Amino acid sequence: MKNHKGIVLVPSDFEGVDWVEKMAKSGLNTLGLHSGGGVAHNVYNELKFMGEQSFRDKLKANGLDYEYEVHASDVLIDHKLFDEHPEYFPQNIRRRTPLADANWCTSNPTALNMVVENALEMVRRLPSSTHRYFFWGVDRLQNDWCHCEKCSHLNGADQALISANAIAERIAEVDPDGQVCFLAYHGTLNGPKRIKPHERVFLEFAPFFRCYFHAFNDPNCAVNVHNREIFEHLLNLFGTERTHVLEYWLDSSLYGFTQHPPLKPIFDKKLVEEDIRYYTGKGIRSITTFAVRQDGEYMEAHGDQEFQDYAEILNRYL
Ligand SMILES: [Zn+2]
Ligand SMILES: [Zn+2]
Repeated sequence: MKNHKGIVLVPSDFEGVDWVEKMAKSGLNTLGLHSGGGVAHNVYNELKFMGEQSFRDKLKANGLDYEYEVHASDVLIDHKLFDEHPEYFPQNIRRRTPLADANWCTSNPTALNMVVENALEMVRRLPSSTHRYFFWGVDRLQNDWCHCEKCSHLNGADQALISANAIAERIAEVDPDGQVCFLAYHGTLNGPKRIKPHERVFLEFAPFFRCYFHAFNDPNCAVNVHNREIFEHLLNLFGTERTHVLEYWLDSSLYGFTQHPPLKPIFDKKLVEEDIRYYTGKGIRSITTFAVRQDGEYMEAHGDQEFQDYAEILNRYL
């Protein structure tokens, strides 16, 4: 994997900030384009200008790589099929009730095939200059994957990986260099137990529940010890070459979506450097962070020192 260093933003973060210019000046090279959280939404609509070729051209002209990091379940399977085909959708663990707003049942070949076809269409419509494609599932901790009779031996991460593997098997039809993300986050954080990654599948580790008062490798932070153990387990499974870290160092939205002005993240320059030293010391060459809600209102209230510090540190290590 080429060195990637960057941030992940949503369209509204560009209100009052020229992030293209800021990124180009920073020495960072990769912009992740995100359509927002929440269980489900139409990615194509919510990406707004980020989904347009003219925007991709502008990034390219400024020397920046781009990739789409999206909760794509609504695009990957048409949830309107639920009434007629509840068997395409996951069954929950309580009463095995089919879930109308979750991912899909990977043991259902018709459903899985639809997911692959829709993913390939997404690659056509939202090409990535990094050749990395992120088809994240629904954004929640439970009621995401399936516990039907055929799926019940598979954990959520296995099911996410089955889906990523199936897309990876065919992605070269659309992008000969294409690679597919397995996202370790929320219900998939602990990683797969039964399924091995296809050679075109890479790990994206997004430690949403880690602590920012301590470094990631601080042995005296129980929260981070837990996250680090998971990370090192996943690193063994995927290998450093196929591991990408998506952090939250600059993410204002981690602290809330409703406050005005948006809140400053907990950002201690020394700790962030320790984190980056740890990750790169493990051989990781691909690191980005969410910076959602670092928009014009944020900049007016807090300025961009944290972004500048982050870029300066990352540029020393990558
Ligand atoms: Zn199932
Ligand atoms: Zn801590």
